Formats: sequence, C-alpha cells, structure tokens
Amino acid sequence: MTRQQVEPEQPIYWLGGGSNLLITGDLPGSVVRIATTGVRKVDHHGDQIVIEAAAGEPWHPFVLYCLKQGWYGLENLSLIPGTVGASPIQNIGAYGVEISDCFDSLRAWNYQTGEIETMTARDCRFSYRDSAFKQELAGLWVVLSVRFRLSTVPQPKTGYRELDEEIDRMGQASSPSPEVISAAVCAVRSRKLPNPEVLGNAGSFFKNPRVPIAQAQTLSERFPDMPCHANQDGVKLSAAWLIDQAGWKGFRSGDAGVHEQHALVLVNYGTASGAQLLALSKDIEASVAAKFGVQLEREPVCWPASPGF
Ligand code: NAP
Repeated sequence: MTRQQVEPEQPIYWLGGGSNLLITGDLPGSVVRIATTGVRKVDHHGDQIVIEAAAGEPWHPFVLYCLKQGWYGLENLSLIPGTVGASPIQNIGAYGVEISDCFDSLRAWNYQTGEIETMTARDCRFSYRDSAFKQELAGLWVVLSVRFRLSTVPQPKTGYRELDEEIDRMGQASSPSPEVISAAVCAVRSRKLPNPEVLGNAGSFFKNPRVPIAQAQTLSERFPDMPCHANQDGVKLSAAWLIDQAGWKGFRSGDAGVHEQHALVLVNYGTASGAQLLALSKDIEASVAAKFGVQLEREPVCWPASPGF
C-alpha cells in the first residue's frame, strides 16, 4: 500500500476475517477487506527470532507455518479464526497465551492523515482481549503488518485442564512438543466450538469477567461449584459457566441461539439478523446480572456501532 491521504465522505469499515463481527444494520459507507499476504524473518539472535506477517495472512495457517519452521510461541493460539492484522486488535488469547506475550511491534496506516507508524506494545495498550484499537484508536488506524518475537527453543505452556487432559490422552503429558500442543488445542477447540463456516457464530460472545476478590468470595459461598481463577487483577470467572447456570445453554429463539456445547457462543441457525443476536445477548447479560450481580461484556465488534450497546 502506498503512502496516500484519503478523505472519505463516508466511513470505511476495514475487514479482516470477519469472525469477530456482528453486523446489526446497513453500513453507511464502504467495506474494505484486507487481503495482503507475506511472511518474512526480520531478525534472528541466538534462539530469538522476529517474524513479520502481512495483515491479511489468515491466522491459523500462519501459526502452522511458524511451527513448521521451528518458530515457537504461538502454538496455544492454534485454530483461532481471523487474520494476522486482527490479532492485536483484541489481543487474541487462548490457553494461557495472548498475542501481547510474543508481540514485537506493528505497522499501521492512518488512512485519514496518510501517516504510517510503527507501534510498540506500549502504544497498543494491550489488556485482556483488548487494546487501544478497540478504545481510543478505534476506526483510526489500519494494521498493515505485525511482528512477533518467537523462539527457536520450545517453551511449552500448559496448565489448562482441558488442554492438559487432551495432551494426556495423546500420551504426551511428560514433555509435550509445540506440535503436540497445537494438535491438542485444535482437538479441544474443534470439539467445543462450532466451525463458523458451518454454523454462523462470532466465537466467544462475552469476555470472561474479572471481579474483586471480595465479590468472588461472596459468590463462591453461594455457588461453591463456580470456577474461579485468581490473578493480580482480581478473580476471573467463567462467562460460559455463568450463562449456563442462568439457564441459557442450548436456548433457541427462531434462528438465534446459544450453542449446545458452549454457552459462550451465540449461533445463527440460518436467518437470524445481527439485531436479533444482539437482543439475545442483552437478555443474557441482564439475566446473568440479575442472578450473579456480574456484568458481562461483549467481545465481538458491532457494525454499525450501536449507541447504548
Ligand atoms: P475454559 O477453558 O472453559 O476457561 C473458562 C475460564 O477459565 C476462562 O476465563 C479461562 O481464562 C479460565 N481458566 C481456565 N483454566 C485456567 C487456568 N489454568 N489458569 C487461568 N485461567 C484459567 O474456556 P473456553 O471458553 O473453553 O476457552 C478456552 C481458551 O480459549 C480460553 O483461554 C479462552 O480465553 C480462549 N478463547 C479465546 C477466544 C478469543 O480470543 N476470542 C475465543 C474462544 C476461546 P482465559 O480466558 O483467561 O484463558
């Protein structure tokens, strides 16, 4: 892409893979799908390697390509739908790893001013499934490419029950290789999460909520089976568990529903509109808030942005 100033009269919506998106109405402007490709090694010192990938590279094939080259660090993020360029937007994460763990920098284009900037992790302000691109920088910058700092030495990250059980089943529990971790993640995800190409969905519809320790303790007394994971930010709850306990798992209204295998995934069985799915999500939020006093936060991006949502 050349350095160029564009002053559109109507908004431009920049699309990656579209897998984290809910379209709730007509869009007043144009949609541009980013389809740039290319992966290259830009630095290699000892066992540290920096890889740059174009924004349009599909994410999962990129992870598999890195694995094949012996560049490790992304294996826990196998089978996440979407593109490389979308990965820093919501700081994608799974099974104890998130993009910010291996992020080096990115190049982004401000299509309104024409600037192209290199941004560091600090500029991106990564947090749990979030970054500055979903907050104060939303809609301003187009990610052109992303650099990842990977290792040529395997550093397996395990510790998630379902992942560990799968690795165990594969007979690899003692020292799983990055390839085994990737295969195990793919197996668990394929079992639990519906393929968006077969059954419309936007992956996890809600973030896993973080609550203060005191609130988690009160909830644990009332709901002793409630999964809790404490860390420096407080206590992380399982949104799927809360939604399941509120009675929504497998719910269906017309073609909008809650997946039977995973309560965190809202599905479109055919002709549900984005607005119907958004309305269902608001009902779920209200019912979880009423039962547990916990406010769920939506993960997918809405187009056009819906006031009040
Ligand atoms: P899960 O494994 O049933 O876990 C539910 C909750 O428990 C999540 O909040 C998870 O945290 C947390 N958790 C489980 N084991 C943990 C451990 N050993 N240490 C710390 N926290 C732990 O969740 P799931 O829905 O099946 O998803 C599996 C993984 O894929 C999760 O990491 C989830 O975040 C990730 N995922 C990400 C996306 C996305 O980026 N859009 C979509 C689908 C799933 P974390 O969420 O912090 O891991």
